Amino acid sequence: KIYYDSDADLGVLENKQIVFLGFGNQGAAQAQNLRDSGIPNDNILIANREDSYAVDARSKGFRVEHDFANAGAVADVLFLLIPDQVQPRVFNEQVAPTLRETATIVIASGYNVFYKLLNFHPKQDVVMVAPRMIGSSVRSLYEKEKGFPCFVSVEQDGSGTGLATALALSRAIGATRAGAIASSAREETAMDLFAEQALWPNIIMLFREAFSVLKEAGCSDEALCYEMWMSKEPAEIFERAAEDGFIQQLKHHSTVSQFGQLSGARALDGAAAREHFKDILNNQILNGKFCKEFSKIEADLEKEGLENPLNELYRTAEESELGQAEKRMTRAAIARHAIT
Ligand code: NDP
Repeated sequence: KIYYDSDADLGVLENKQIVFLGFGNQGAAQAQNLRDSGIPNDNILIANREDSYAVDARSKGFRVEHDFANAGAVADVLFLLIPDQVQPRVFNEQVAPTLRETATIVIASGYNVFYKLLNFHPKQDVVMVAPRMIGSSVRSLYEKEKGFPCFVSVEQDGSGTGLATALALSRAIGATRAGAIASSAREETAMDLFAEQALWPNIIMLFREAFSVLKEAGCSDEALCYEMWMSKEPAEIFERAAEDGFIQQLKHHSTVSQFGQLSGARALDGAAAREHFKDILNNQILNGKFCKEFSKIEADLEKEGLENPLNELYRTAEESELGQAEKRMTRAAIARHAIT
């Protein structure tokens, strides 16, 4: 099911106090879109700590509240737009205690709801309005009077009218212009984490191993980096895939290339990859194992140096042949750019 502007009534937001917790990537874009859709500035409040994000919100004409309990107390609608890993701590401890039983909580990612990490009152509405775009595109497409792909769902319907609110909010941020797709926190989380933990790791691995094999065969770092990604050929392929379709974009390639790609793909046995993908989906994502393990290291992500597990992962990736080569190449490319 896809919802369009005509399915949504902005009237249901009349006289509602709408609070944006977070004025980052999504928060800044969605709050501005909502205001430009006719929601009065007086009905919008930005909840943010006193720092550069708060300064940015004020410079754009918004009211800012730095006490999250005060912000929660006045919210009819609360957009939860701070990073996923800090949401449980901030929402449960600082916002939920003062939030009205009749409030609507809006999430832009299914993660914390699917894994039941947020404490809601049973009478509250919890809706998902999850753009499939980075915040700057959410804003720039709105300014061009275009929509953007977005998932919408009602995760808890305390009022019985959660869908009407979800659709009105989707329309207000500009999502129903292109059509907002009915989804769920489970579906959004499964697809998002699957892409991050199954699909892209395999793509990184394929590039790493392809690089190594071709280097062994005598190809130079420079030629490989440009051939494989710095020429932006893969970016163009994905751009075409978004426009024409994943298979149809092949027709823009040479006949030799089309034959090689299609016959090569058909000859590959996907059984091992399929089993690996199913294992990640069922035994890591859907059963909550990844979430449990990630919660254990979440605090370490704020540490400096190699005590931060993310820095440690970067260290290993950067030490690979591909990582080393592209570091040299990037520096060389920057130097060349500076000269010209
Ligand atoms: P950002 O990383 O841009 O969030 C930054 C905001 O969060 C700032 O206002 C920041 O303010 C605040 N913040 C960060 N840490 C804390 C903290 N410990 N306590 C209080 N406030 C904090 O987030 P995104 O916009 O990227 O993500 C928001 C939601 O949108 C997430 O659920 C995400 O999954 C979802 N989403 C994101 C997309 C994206 O492209 N990034 C795409 C679609 C959905 P300050 O540091 O001043 O406190």
